Amino acid sequence: MSHTPRILNGVEIAAEIKGEVAADVRSLAAAGIVPGLAVILVGHVAASEIYVRSKVKTCAELGIHSEMLTPPETVTTEEMLALIADLNARDQIDGILIQLPLPAHVDTRRLLEAVAPEKDVDGFHPINVGRLQSASAKGPSAGPALAPCTPAGIMEILRRSNIPVAGRNAVVLGRSDIVGKPVAMMLLNASATVTICHSRTVDLPSFTRRADILVAAVGRPGFVTAEIIKPGATLIDVGINRISDAADVARFFPDDEERAAQFAKRGSTVVGDIDPAAFKIAGAYTPVPGGVGALTIAMLMQNTVTAARARRGDVERVVAAGKA
Ligand code: NAP
Repeated sequence: MSHTPRILNGVEIAAEIKGEVAADVRSLAAAGIVPGLAVILVGHVAASEIYVRSKVKTCAELGIHSEMLTPPETVTTEEMLALIADLNARDQIDGILIQLPLPAHVDTRRLLEAVAPEKDVDGFHPINVGRLQSASAKGPSAGPALAPCTPAGIMEILRRSNIPVAGRNAVVLGRSDIVGKPVAMMLLNASATVTICHSRTVDLPSFTRRADILVAAVGRPGFVTAEIIKPGATLIDVGINRISDAADVARFFPDDEERAAQFAKRGSTVVGDIDPAAFKIAGAYTPVPGGVGALTIAMLMQNTVTAARARRGDVERVVAAGKA
């Protein structure tokens, strides 16, 4: 019997969320409130520049005010602290995002902790990390208002695709502060039975083969093979790995003419942390590109509007007054 796994389309889900955010922004506009996001981009890291441009563009599409601050590569921690203090104090700014990575001479941790927790739209401040940790099991999206964007996006994919989480075995590969740890905590808050694996895990396949939901965030092309997954599992692929070796492209994407054409044109293509061969025996999976990555900016936009509302307290009353 042939098996057709379900594709969890991140682009569609992100569009749905952006539509909701745009509607929310319009209702705030009725009360004269325009949510504002400040993005700090240090130096000239090509990938960071692309991400920031796309964040600024999405703000414009949704009616969110945005500012891009571009200190030079030589900026000091003290200068960055002054910049953040200024943004913390400005009423027009609801969200502050420091694009990572920062140059090695800058104290990244100190800067992330300097962002006012109520403007921390990346959810990296220890106060927001603590809130996530102490959230109770309230459903798939359980957690603090300002939760890290990529993990929050993963939970939205599961929730909006009606993938059951409570009581399921969820295995997270990777324990970074940005993805692995927070998504594990969110899955736990959504009542999954969670295992976190990392580079020191012994006999990793014995864990992955039990996963009803497998989240891969390791940063290694095609790391998860078909042999180490449970057939029918939901596979969430966070990895974004650029490959430029023709043999790798042929191995991961045999018979994929579209990829071959893309590779021929650009000299590279992108593969996730899960070997596409594993998708074929999954129950559902997020493609790369077009899966988890598509959600991150949508969740940033949602966090910015949430922060704008939360900072103003009883915003419904303000909105109603604006409409009267
Ligand atoms: P990271 O900070 O480099 O963490 C990688 C994790 O993988 C670490 O916990 C590491 O374990 C673990 N790991 C590495 N090799 C392993 C192995 N052989 N077996 C088991 N675990 C292993 O990466 P990250 O920031 O979480 O990102 C992971 C991937 O997601 C990257 O491809 C990144 O580009 C992508 N990403 C995508 C988005 C998005 O918007 N879609 C956002 C963020 C990241 P140790 O802790 O033991 O070293």
